[in-house]
Amino acid sequence: VWVNCLRVIKANIGEQSFRTWFEPIMPVQLHNNVLIIQVPSQFFYEWLEEHYVDVLKKGIYQELGPEGRLEYSIVVDQGNSQNKPRTVNIPTSRKAAAPTGAATMAGAIAASALTGSARNVAAAAAAPDTSNMLRNPFEATKAIDRNYVKSQLNGTYSFENYVEGDCNRLARSAGLAVANKPGTTSFNPLMIYGGVGLGKTHLVQAIGNHIKATTPDKFVLYVSAEKFTNQFIESLRNNGVQDFANFYLLVDILILDDVQFLSGKDKTQEMFFHIFNHLHQAGKQIVMTSDRPPRDLNGLEDRLLSRFKWGLTADLQSPDFETRMAIIQNKMEQDGIDIPPQVVEYLAHSVNTNVRELEGVLISLVAQSSLNRREIDLEMAKQALRHIIEEVEAEVNLDFIQKTVAEYFSISLDLLKAKTRKKEVVTARQVAMYFAKEHTSHSLKSIGFHFGGRDHSTVIHSVQTVSDLIDSDKNFRNTIVDLRKKFAGKQR
Ligand code: ADP
Ligand code: MG
Repeated sequence: VWVNCLRVIKANIGEQSFRTWFEPIMPVQLHNNVLIIQVPSQFFYEWLEEHYVDVLKKGIYQELGPEGRLEYSIVVDQGNSQNKPRTVNIPTSRKAAAPTGAATMAGAIAASALTGSARNVAAAAAAPDTSNMLRNPFEATKAIDRNYVKSQLNGTYSFENYVEGDCNRLARSAGLAVANKPGTTSFNPLMIYGGVGLGKTHLVQAIGNHIKATTPDKFVLYVSAEKFTNQFIESLRNNGVQDFANFYLLVDILILDDVQFLSGKDKTQEMFFHIFNHLHQAGKQIVMTSDRPPRDLNGLEDRLLSRFKWGLTADLQSPDFETRMAIIQNKMEQDGIDIPPQVVEYLAHSVNTNVRELEGVLISLVAQSSLNRREIDLEMAKQALRHIIEEVEAEVNLDFIQKTVAEYFSISLDLLKAKTRKKEVVTARQVAMYFAKEHTSHSLKSIGFHFGGRDHSTVIHSVQTVSDLIDSDKNFRNTIVDLRKKFAGKQR
């Protein structure tokens, strides 16, 4: 019955509205022409009643005839004692006959009746007392003057100083499109993801600043998911959840930074889900960032994740050498710093982790230079980068391979390099040589030298032996796979 109802409804409303407001509904029970549907929250119920009551009636009427009735069951999270139970008060004139079991559903309360019969429709229309029901949130909050609310934007982030490169081209141009036409492109929501320090916050702030500059009457709000969560928790404590929600429903462009922070925070997610739905429904723009792709956002509810797919997801990669050069030059220009070209190149070459680190090194160089009243030169740069370079070198080198393999076979490092021909030691040594060949740029001669002064033909023999064993011996193959994981983890 519900599926057929949905068909009727779908034919009468937009695709987007349908997905937002009807896909999350679950049919619960049909008994004596009363269809009970479960909706995720009170908000949801109210929104349906406000906006889709006619189309719902139509669907029910076609399926169940004039006697058909609809009841809602609203999911209430019982875990939170701070929350008053969300009973929906229904004017008596519209009250359904004794609910048929919905009331017994865990934590759910049946509410409102809706009917296709002419008499009851008339009664519904005449129902006067809705004062104890929540009003349309958009109505309820007209009183708040949005212009007094700060956008929480940092004006230093702009598109002009966001250097473009292969690493960010899609994200940047999608961001620009959204900034020029918020809410009207198909990039809604726009989800930017990427590792730490790669420019997510900069980009989404640039979007906000651009919109603010071109259309000052739009209410742009930037908020980190962490702050959002804290505000929400605070509102629970003060019985201010409704105000909290209403505030967010006023926003024209909502920028939620680091959405991964919502992982495992179910109640906050639920709230965001509703805000998201309302805003999206109303054609408002939503921009989000995450430090990982949506598919890896464990701890986020599927229904929220599925919303993210409606728009565009774009990633930020680590910048390549040329982009790193451009970013340094851009920063120098912006801050009026002067650095010799070979130093710029050295920095761009050496700091290949992320942009924040690159900027950090630049700032510390500038600080040192002014402290010591000395021009920035290559020597100073090398000094400043010492620890970073060491980290790079600490990747998979010979020492690391020998230590890891020795440890794996439970023998000492000395024994690994010693003259002994004991079988386990020989195997361990051969394996270590094999990985040394695979992971380092040492010559066969050099590898032999580092394994107790053996010659290069011994190394060749070892590598060959290991290769053969990998093919012929399943247990041995597993050993190699295990070890290879340790080395792969160390490489970036
Ligand atoms: P994230 O939010 O991804 O951790 P941020 O946006 O905070 O990273 O960026 C870290 C720093 O790097 C910021 O100071 C930002 O201005 C700068 N930055 C990142 N990407 C770029 C870029 N493409 N051009 C210029 N500056 C950048
Ligand atoms: Mg950030």
